[in-house]
Amino acid sequence: MLKLGGSVITIKNRAFTPNREAITRLAGEISDSKASPLIIVHGGGSYGHPLAAKYRIAEGFRENRQLIGFSKTHNAMQSLNILVVEALIEHGLPAISIAPSSCIVTKRGRIERFDAEVLSRSLKLGFVPVLYGDAVFDCETGFSILSGDQLASALAIMFNAEKVIMGVDVDGLYTADPKIDFSAELIERISLSELEKLTNKIGGSRATDVTGGMVGKIFEMASSVASDIDVVIVNALKPGNIYKALRGEKVRGTRIVKG
Ligand code: ADP
Repeated sequence: MLKLGGSVITIKNRAFTPNREAITRLAGEISDSKASPLIIVHGGGSYGHPLAAKYRIAEGFRENRQLIGFSKTHNAMQSLNILVVEALIEHGLPAISIAPSSCIVTKRGRIERFDAEVLSRSLKLGFVPVLYGDAVFDCETGFSILSGDQLASALAIMFNAEKVIMGVDVDGLYTADPKIDFSAELIERISLSELEKLTNKIGGSRATDVTGGMVGKIFEMASSVASDIDVVIVNALKPGNIYKALRGEKVRGTRIVKG
């Protein structure tokens, strides 16, 4: 399971701006790594978050004028998804887009139902399914936002992934937000219990992020770790890191362990 953060594939503080260079390079690294089977999930960055925040999609349905916002959010995510899938195809990978909003229903923002047949059939045949954080329907609140992080963790557990690689725009989990606090230190290895103590101290994401930044990410990954899946957070903006992580080679980053 590979999660590519919105902070990696978009320019996070510039609305609807993809990081085309990173997308192309990462597609090459993924292709070169020959990792298989592989599910890819990507985040929204500057494509999804500003719209989702503007129309308060994560708060659920309250008024009709949110509907156009839901459409715009989902559509923006699809546009970004096309760029990722196209880059993968150009590098020879049989990537296939799967829209989370068409196969997942949440309950108060948490995945409640997932029709996995399309995904599992594609995976079995050797395709590389590419999903993303999306605006989805919710059985209690009407609709909500499903983060790429929650989705990646849930899919990893559902499909018994060997590992989850979380590609972000920093080297891993730090003692504080490294973009604000320059004395922050990288935590190379952390257990679930240590994590719990830390989550109160570490920061969220600076740019608009309706899904919680690093704290939300860690929170989501905890369930994968508890299911004995290896989880590493690495810097996907550094060339070669994703290739190495997919190959199982050592990369500077944060490894989350169970005990
Ligand atoms: P993505 O959208 O790529 O999944 P986010 O932007 O939500 O990732 O979260 C990553 C960001 O979280 C980093 O760019 C960093 O600025 C911020 N952050 C906040 N606190 C921390 C921390 N303790 N360690 C690392 N990053 C942190």
